[in-house]
Parts: sequence; structure tokens; C-alpha cells
Amino acid sequence: MERVECVVVGAGVVGLAVARRLARAGREVIVLEAADAIGTGTSSRNSEVIHAGIYYPTGSLRARLCVPGRDALYDYCAAHGVEHRRVGKLIVATEENQLPKLAAIRAQAAANGVTDLTEIDAATARAWEPNLRTAGALLSPSTGIIDSHGLMLALLGDAEEAGAMLALLSPLTRSHRTASGFELEVGGAEPMRIACSTLINAGGLGAWGVARGLEGLDPAHVPPRVLAKGNYYALAAGRSPFSRLVYPVPVEGGLGVHLTLDLAGQARFGPDVEWLGDVEGTVDYAVDPTRADSFYGAVRAYWPGLPDGALVPAYSGVRPKLSGPGQQQADFLIQGPDTHGVDGLVNLFGIESPGLTSCLAIADAVAMALGEAPEILNHSQGSQGS
Ligand SMILES: Cc1cc2nc3c(=O)[nH]c(=O)nc-3n(C[C@H](O)[C@H](O)[C@H](O)COP(=O)(O)OP(=O)(O)OC[C@H]3O[C@@H](n4cnc5c(N)ncnc54)[C@H](O)[C@@H]3O)c2cc1C
Repeated sequence: MERVECVVVGAGVVGLAVARRLARAGREVIVLEAADAIGTGTSSRNSEVIHAGIYYPTGSLRARLCVPGRDALYDYCAAHGVEHRRVGKLIVATEENQLPKLAAIRAQAAANGVTDLTEIDAATARAWEPNLRTAGALLSPSTGIIDSHGLMLALLGDAEEAGAMLALLSPLTRSHRTASGFELEVGGAEPMRIACSTLINAGGLGAWGVARGLEGLDPAHVPPRVLAKGNYYALAAGRSPFSRLVYPVPVEGGLGVHLTLDLAGQARFGPDVEWLGDVEGTVDYAVDPTRADSFYGAVRAYWPGLPDGALVPAYSGVRPKLSGPGQQQADFLIQGPDTHGVDGLVNLFGIESPGLTSCLAIADAVAMALGEAPEILNHSQGSQGS
């Protein structure tokens, strides 16, 4: 049987950031990834936005990890040549009666330490973005966009440089506790068994399967899983009609069908919220073309000039949520030994947005749950989620 100090399950942006963090702290790390490449899950099916940290409830892990995570990410991108751009975003009231919501968003942002939002009147917003329909807006100058794959390659490179190893096509199928840690059964073409003292479950949508497959973990610590698909549409032709990201005021379950830009300047619209419940098995990522009607309605609220037939289905991602329709949106859940009583185990559940932005801060929180000193966070920021 192979022996290693630390196993990270999942080579998405979070697993890779954790592997880098732990390897650089001097731990011996193997990353197990079920797929044949890194970042094929939610980490490559998102908006690639570096979020400022505006909307999350004050004191939530999402709020406490997003702001330092964002700053650390900008620094990391600059130092490692990861392509990114601070394009800024407009949060748009499309009707006069939404203006009070902008004031509430600004207050929430300030409570989270995001103090750079500025009010933009309708005339100024239209002068900046002539295609925009708005009664008033907020500008978030610290919102940006990032090449998520470039980020993951940089994280992997750093982790490997610090001695970590990546095993692709290596799904963790079952595990159990031993006197000194865990014994893992790994599938794939050449099944193997690995003994480790530290196990980080960063399996994204698969984190629940990993946790349920761990004999010795009380199932009461595995929360219900609710999946919410987010579909994107793109423009069939032409450049983006906007030069900044454009967000309506948020809706239940998500941030509303917004316009984001990729680094090539192409526009994409989404994600919407399609509740899937807790489907077992493979997720169907195909975008249902009949959802286009609701996109035209949502986008025309802020871009009335969107021509008929301009939108084409693009791609989708699935949010691993801990709350369902009509419920208050749940926080990230980073469960260390303090919560479940299993030494050496950290489970990550519900790492939806802003997980990409926060990946370096999440990695710091995981390291802190294992007793490492914080690098990015202070002590109160790294404690358990709800
Ligand atoms: C529609 C959408 C839009 C989003 N937009 C943004 C955004 O603009 N900005 C932002 O900050 N965040 C955004 N997010 C959130 C962000 O994408 C996620 O928080 C982040 O990618 C989660 O990364 P992860 O590593 O936890 O999960 P994943 O990327 O899903 O990685 C998990 C990995 O674990 C592997 N795995 C699972 N089970 C096993 C197993 N048993 N054995 C081995 N490997 C296993 C999977 O194959 C996968 O590669 C968005 C999310 C969605 C769904």
C-alpha cells in the first residue's frame, strides 16, 4: 500500500489551491482526480469573474473569504502571469423602483469591507455604455475577469514545484478510518490503496459521494445536496455591446442573468437558475434551447436592443448548493475536525460562487483547520461555515 501524508480529492481550482497551500507548508501531498485532466468540473463551467465580495451576508464565510481571496488572487495573477483584467462591473437598476435595492447592495458591500462602490446616475451610465437601459447603477471597480484554466495550471505548477503529485483518472471510491488516519480505495485502470493521515475532500459536486463513502464519518455531518444548473447563452455573431460587466439586481438562487465578458472581449449571458434537486449520476450539461425565451426577456431589461435570433446556447455549470428554492442561500461549509471529530479530515461542501475568486483564501482556511498558521486570513475568518 502507498503511504502519503496528505491526500486532496479533486483537481478543481479549490483542490489545486489547497494542494499548493499544503505542499508549500512542507506537507507531502497527492491530488486524486477522477477525470483525465484538471479543472473539468465546475471550475471550467463558470463566469470566470473575480468577484468584489458585495452581496454575501456579513460574517458569512463567503463574505469573509471573498474579499481577502480577491486581493490575494489579483496579486497571484500579477506575480504568475495569469491572464486577468479589472474590467469593472455595473449593477443596474432597470426601473426607478429598483433604485432602493442599489442603496441596500451598497450598504451590504460596505459591511463586507467593499467600500469602493460608487453610484452612477443614468445619464453617466448611458454615456459609458450607450446600449444600456438603466435608471441608475453602481460601479464596482474591483470586479474583474480571469483565465480560470491559466489559474489552475499556475496553481498546479506551484504545487508540483513544492513536491505535490497529481494522479489523474484516479477516483476515490471508498475510504475508512484507521488508527493513524485513513485508508483509501482508488479506482481507475490500476486500482490502488493509499494510506494517509490527512484527507481533504474538495470533490465539488462529488464531495458528497466522497464523504458518504468514508466509513467512520457520522452521516449527520453530510448535508443535503441541492443542484442548481446555470445555463449560458452567447451572441451568435459580433462583439460585446458593453465594455464592462453588467449585472441586474440579484434574483433568488443567483445573481440574475448578467452579461460577462471573456478575455477575448466576447459577451456571454447567464447563468440562469434551473433547479435540479439532487440528481444521482452524471450531470447533463447540455443547454436546453427552449430556455432562450427567458434569456431574451431578462437581457432586454437592460439591453433593449438585443436583436431577435442573436442568442445561441453556449454552456452550463452546476452549483453544488446547500439550500433549495425559497430558502435563504446557504454559506460555504468547510468542516474540519472541530465539527465532525475526525482528525485529519476536512470536507468542503457547497463551494459555489465565489469559490473561484476565493480559492486561495479557502485553501488558507483549510490549512488553518489543520492547525497551520494563516497566510491570508486572520484567525476569525478561517472558522467553520454554517
Ligand atoms: C454557473 C456557475 C458560475 C460561477 N461563476 C463564478 C464566478 O464568476 N466567480 C467565482 O468566483 N465563482 C464562480 N462560480 C463558483 C466556482 O466555479 C466554484 O466555486 C469552483 O469552481 C469550485 O471549485 P472546486 O474545485 O470546489 O470544484 P470542481 O471544479 O467541481 O472540482 C472538483 C473536482 O473533484 C473531482 N472529483 C469529484 N469526486 C471525485 C472522486 N471521488 N475522486 C477523485 N476526484 C473527484 C471532479 O472530477 C472535479 O475535477 C460559479 C459556479 C457556477 C456553477
